Amino acid sequence: MYRSTRSGGAPVPAERAIIEGLAPDGGLYVPVDLPGLSALALGPGSLSYPELALEVLQPFFPGFAPGRLKAEIEAAAGTFDCAEVTPVVERRGIHFLELFHGRTLAFKDLALSLMGGLVGLAGEGRGKGAAELLVLVATSGDTGKAALAGFSDRPGLRVAVFYPEKGVSPVQRLQMVSHASGNAFVAGIRGDFDDAQRAVKRIFSSPEADRELGSRGYSLTSANSINIARLLPQIVYYVKAWRSLRDSGALGSDGRMDVAVPTGNFGNILAAWYAKRMGLPIGRLICASNSNRVLADFFATGRYDRNRALLQTTSPSMDILVSSNLERLLFHASGEDPGRTAYLMDGLSREGSFALGDSERDFLGDFVGGWADDKEAGAEIAATFAGTGYLIDPHSAVAVAVLSKIRKREGLIRPTVIASTASPFKFPAAVAGAIGLAGDASPGSELELAASLARRAGLELPPPIALLSGAPELHLSVVDPEGMEGALYRFLDGGLS
Ligand SMILES: *Cc1c(COP(=O)(O)O)cnc(C)c1O
Repeated sequence: MYRSTRSGGAPVPAERAIIEGLAPDGGLYVPVDLPGLSALALGPGSLSYPELALEVLQPFFPGFAPGRLKAEIEAAAGTFDCAEVTPVVERRGIHFLELFHGRTLAFKDLALSLMGGLVGLAGEGRGKGAAELLVLVATSGDTGKAALAGFSDRPGLRVAVFYPEKGVSPVQRLQMVSHASGNAFVAGIRGDFDDAQRAVKRIFSSPEADRELGSRGYSLTSANSINIARLLPQIVYYVKAWRSLRDSGALGSDGRMDVAVPTGNFGNILAAWYAKRMGLPIGRLICASNSNRVLADFFATGRYDRNRALLQTTSPSMDILVSSNLERLLFHASGEDPGRTAYLMDGLSREGSFALGDSERDFLGDFVGGWADDKEAGAEIAATFAGTGYLIDPHSAVAVAVLSKIRKREGLIRPTVIASTASPFKFPAAVAGAIGLAGDASPGSELELAASLARRAGLELPPPIALLSGAPELHLSVVDPEGMEGALYRFLDGGLS
């Protein structure tokens, strides 16, 4: 069962939490009880990714027939370009957990390739004649395309994606606007990711929007990590990573690993924390930010303050000031007190800030915050490539830079897994710049830059990028954040694509 972080209302089953996305009181759904990891999941026997995923996820979805869940998990794993799904690669004494082998080359694929199936299974229980589902997505760049790929052409589902017009990389934009599917709508917004996310949350909790959509035969659901179905599949790869380290003899005497996660909306690292609470031997969770260092400041001081300018960095998917999933952690830190969580969130929306009490801060003791700017991240891309020939993307590089600073300060404490969240070829301008590959980074030529980067690294350009060359731009709408709701209705009424 799942309950809202903001009210003491009766818990709801997984199906309802998935379909609603956001709880009616504006809170986020969290599991009432976290199941422990099974002896099989932690045991020495070999397990394929789908077998492990089924073992970890089944307890969260007791209403789904195991055979159906298994089929969806296998289908999702089948969209990855390697059987391991999330291989671990060691370079420079760091374990890179490669989360970019899916269709859109970012870690969002891990959850979103499966989420279409989870939403489909959850929706079946609503019976015949129920409204069709409209999946509403705000994206900082990578969720958009992963949701389009994951939900595309599923019957009974439509997808609407809003991205910050000037806040995504040219490759990210092209991936989204070239997406061909009758059930999808993509629009840029004049604003940043926080504006898009705020407008989406407003639409979710607006009774008028509910009526307008209902009259058109739709009800809303979310593919953002505010949806619990997005978060839970992310637990699996941390278990997989730990098993990889154990099997290769990389763990130390305490049997634990640390994780370092390049963080924006706090979904990925929260999944690691849930994995730890479920019994996975994780030591510390290193929360790595770019120059938008709200979270680093928060872990250092206990005070969250979004009153600052949003900076554009070379890691655009982390250019966020309001990290939605932190609300789930705060709920747990407050002793699962919905009144307290609602109070903190109210402070955030009214004043843009809130501060934790002592016991709440103590609760967060496993987290270490840190941040690195573009220059520091670029230096890690260069050092990794020069030393090992291995290319990393600017987001993963932020985590490497933060880890390097911690290791300089404290020495090597534990084997550490970096959540390597994207392929370097998604961000060719920043990566090429970092390794000193000359090139013109104007939008038209980013794909050419990606190709020369691949040649330089002696790798093949991943097909999802190669196929973008010459792809027609199909979705050209750009709207103000206030215009998102109207655009949604025009799309459903057939007037926008
Ligand atoms: C989304 C994203 C992040 C941030 O993940 P959160 O779960 O939002 O913290 C980091 N790196 C890349 C490449 C991403 O796409």
